[in-house]
Amino acid sequence: MTNQEIIDLTNRHVTNTYRRFPITIVKGEGRRVWDADGKVYLDFVAGLAVCNLGHCHPAVVKAIKEQAEKLIHISNLYYIESQAELAKLLCENSFADKVFFCNSGAEANEAAIKLVRKYFHNRGEDRFQVISMEKSFHGRTMAAMAATGQKKIREGFEPLLEKFSYVPFNDVDAVRRAIVPRTAAIMIEPIQGEGGVILPSDGYIKELKALCKEEGILLIFDEIQVGMGRTGRLFAYEHYGVMPDIMTLAKGLAGGIAIGAMLATDDVASAFTPGSHASTFGGNPIAASAGIASVNAIIEENILDNCRKIGTYLFERLDGLKRKYHFIRETRGKGLIIGMELDIPGADIVNICLQKGLLINCIGEKILRFLPPLTVTETEVDEMIGILSTVLDGYK
Ligand SMILES: *Cc1c(COP(=O)(O)O)cnc(C)c1O
Repeated sequence: MTNQEIIDLTNRHVTNTYRRFPITIVKGEGRRVWDADGKVYLDFVAGLAVCNLGHCHPAVVKAIKEQAEKLIHISNLYYIESQAELAKLLCENSFADKVFFCNSGAEANEAAIKLVRKYFHNRGEDRFQVISMEKSFHGRTMAAMAATGQKKIREGFEPLLEKFSYVPFNDVDAVRRAIVPRTAAIMIEPIQGEGGVILPSDGYIKELKALCKEEGILLIFDEIQVGMGRTGRLFAYEHYGVMPDIMTLAKGLAGGIAIGAMLATDDVASAFTPGSHASTFGGNPIAASAGIASVNAIIEENILDNCRKIGTYLFERLDGLKRKYHFIRETRGKGLIIGMELDIPGADIVNICLQKGLLINCIGEKILRFLPPLTVTETEVDEMIGILSTVLDGYK
């Protein structure tokens, strides 16, 4: 089918929940993707921070193929070798002792919120309220949406799940004031993604941890977007010298295959017992095998070094554009999640970049977001800057 035929068919039969660009991507390799009409694009979106290893990384493809030929699905009624191995890999490389597998980010956050409630319930403590951040994004299911500090995401779906409150990011005092005797946890993205690539100020994450300890409540890091190497460390929390009690992962965890994971310490995770929570597909052989291949590749293929090195280079190149274009207000980010805040709307810029063969993304109307695969090269950054500059020239 051509791009247009696929678009027409989609509009006829798929629910209209996405404002899509008018192309169909049919093939990907490394940092390039191809549309149905054969046009090639340089990809600085990476499937929304999912394809951290680039498209169709050979090790991930191989793992999926080999597993598909052996066993595709069996359910959690039985033990699954690749699930156990992926859990071990994640625990060995993080604060966590235990992992619960599911199929998406929202589901991982649901699991985290349920675990927090069960943990305090088991201890006989009446704590169930969760404090999250304004501008946060935690997903679209009922609990994850209730945790999300953005009105536009919750609007029209009321009544919301109760017992969530929101405080401004980077304001420890606001958290302290929001804590009530029923507070169970603080839930936070160490770096806010959808909210506009917002970085924590110095000491903020550490102070949150101290506050949690002081109050006897749990700390949940949502690293669905910034985990899996995106910031130049395997997990973003490593930058801040603080470990959470619970962490959620998804996006980049399995090289593009749908997966979600909730990691926790033994003490907290033990609140879940047989029957507490479940997922038919969670940790299935294919997703887990792809996850093992991805995590191993991130660790063994110098991906984190490349992310830090190219991240610095990309940041400098983007920041340098400020001198040329007065409408660029600020560039910010860590590793290869970088936001560029403009004084003008970004949607058209993204559209013109697309026409010129470059995929970038715009959040909150005026923030361009750059999320290339972590394998991106300096040459590709130069190419991207070249296209972007040509487009921005039109706004001078
Ligand atoms: C994408 C995202 C989610 C939701 O993940 P889904 O897989 O779409 O459910 C949750 N939290 C953060 C920080 C995200 O970036």
